[in-house]
Amino acid sequence: MSLKRIMTAAIAMLAALALAGAASLIILTTFLHRTTESMGSAVEGVRLAEALQVDLLMLYRMSDTLLRIPSDSPRSAETIEASLRSHLAEARRNAWSPQEQALITEAERTISGYLLARERVANQPPEQASRELIPRLESALAALDQLVAFNVNEARVTQARADRWDQLANIGGVSVAALMVLGGGALLWWMRRFVFRPLLDMSHAMRRFGAGRKRTRAPESGPAELRDMAHTFNEMANSLARQQEEQLTFLAGVAHDLRNPLSALKMSAALVTSGRPIPEERLQKTMALVRRQVARLDRMVGDLLDATRIEAGRFELSLEERDARELAAAVVELYQAGGSSHDLRLHLPEEPVLLSADATRVEQVLHNLVSNALKYSQTGSRVDVIVGREGNEAVLSVVDRGIGISNEELRTLFTPFRRTGRAREKAPGVGLGLSVARRIVEAHGGRIEVESRPGVGSTFRVRLPRAHPAAHPARPEDATPSPADTVH
Ligand code: ADP
Repeated sequence: MSLKRIMTAAIAMLAALALAGAASLIILTTFLHRTTESMGSAVEGVRLAEALQVDLLMLYRMSDTLLRIPSDSPRSAETIEASLRSHLAEARRNAWSPQEQALITEAERTISGYLLARERVANQPPEQASRELIPRLESALAALDQLVAFNVNEARVTQARADRWDQLANIGGVSVAALMVLGGGALLWWMRRFVFRPLLDMSHAMRRFGAGRKRTRAPESGPAELRDMAHTFNEMANSLARQQEEQLTFLAGVAHDLRNPLSALKMSAALVTSGRPIPEERLQKTMALVRRQVARLDRMVGDLLDATRIEAGRFELSLEERDARELAAAVVELYQAGGSSHDLRLHLPEEPVLLSADATRVEQVLHNLVSNALKYSQTGSRVDVIVGREGNEAVLSVVDRGIGISNEELRTLFTPFRRTGRAREKAPGVGLGLSVARRIVEAHGGRIEVESRPGVGSTFRVRLPRAHPAAHPARPEDATPSPADTVH
């Protein structure tokens, strides 16, 4: 799984927990608000019922005719009655359940019964009035007692519900907190195990690699991003190791290739300076050998210098208009003059094939291809150098019947210092010529193509843009010349 996905999932989980916590808090506070309201309403209901009872008792007490007690209340009977009505109205407004409404209706009925009776008995003898009033007063007080009991009960129920919610809130709060702590802990553990450890391992591997232990590789574990990082580092380390190996092979190759011409030169010099008379023919042969070895050394050093210049980005061309036929002929003549041990043939079209090119560099490319064709084929076998035109391109081909190159080796043919196994056995070389040749051809806006079959032979085709293609339009007869056009 990728680090991004895991972090997103973890953050989403923590956010969901936080949201659940916030939602529970909102629900809880709303419920608490309602509980407080209904508790307040119950308390108010009790207060009003008791105030009504007090008003009733005060009114009863005022009936001096009945109790023979002089009234010392600062309130008149009318104000108490008004207070009774206003308390009843207030109690009705405060009541929210149908049961309480019914109890209030009952209280209203009994209180108004008492008040009516009070008016009726105003002029009656005290005993008769008392007989009439007391039962009505008691039933009004009883109705108010029921109202008080109902509200007290409501307050208890509300209190019990609040207690239950309080418990639930405690459990919920503790659970959310525990889940958050557990989630955070799990995330930390996971980060430690699957992120920090692989990161540390990678950093150790990098440090060890930097300290010179080139076989060190980072473990490819943990989330996808870290695995990718470790993989990239390992690939980089592999590539560095490969480069180092290639450099060593290259140095060994250069040393080996330098030794052969140098020992030939050493032997030739020893022969010439031995003081003994040397027959003319032998001297000529020795001098030809010296020339060949010096040319070989010169080419090797030239390839090395070119490769260095290309790598450093200091590779320049001096372009001029030249006929590709001349360039190919110059290269082939040089080999033929040197007494080529192969059947080297040149095929040229009749019309010029103009190029805008750096002549020395194009010759260098042809030199390399012809020299390879000769190096990697049997002595005496045929090698063709063909100049032709295809559309707006000049095509310079070198065809041999030599050892050939396998499909797998073709893929890395132009990589510097790469040499095929069979070529190593057959002839000395550094493995730089083709990579330099390709860079030269590409710098001219062209490309090199290869066709090869092991044991059958190879064809290297250099395609370069022709100069002024409009002045020399492509015609069917422009195609690569047939062997009939041979200029041997
Ligand atoms: P060098 O010839 O000095 O090794 P090059 O870069 O010219 O270097 O060639 C690279 C490799 O390509 C050679 O070592 C050889 O393996 C292969 N190669 C090039 N030309 C031919 C050819 N005509 N036939 C077979 N193999 C070839």
